[in-house]
Amino acid sequence: MSLKSSLSSLENDLGCFSIPEVSDSEIAATAFVNGIVFVGHNNGCYSALGLAPGSHFQTLGVSTIESFGVPSGWQVIALAPGCTPDNPSTVQHEMLHALGMLSGLLAFKTLLKARFILSLQTENSSK
Ligand SMILES: [Zn+2]
Repeated sequence: MSLKSSLSSLENDLGCFSIPEVSDSEIAATAFVNGIVFVGHNNGCYSALGLAPGSHFQTLGVSTIESFGVPSGWQVIALAPGCTPDNPSTVQHEMLHALGMLSGLLAFKTLLKARFILSLQTENSSK
């Protein structure tokens, strides 16, 4: 799976959410103040948590985000060789961090069944 198809899969799963690609020829004139530049890295995959304009990592050997040819408000997601193109879940994991998602600190509980029962009781009681 390619990086692009990993992100397309994430778009499809999230719904109403678009992650457009900006090509090399478009980047100089892009209207996107914020964005992600994916950079290959040998020492693991990582992303800043949430919107972090200009965020990059010292180990990438650059002093500014513009060194990657992107606007100053963009941020880096670093991908190790094992992360892409064969591991879409890692690409999506790092993208979710950039969207503000913490690892392992979220849980969910559903009350859908209870609400459904409540809804039926309401319908029955009105008859
Ligand atoms: Zn993580």
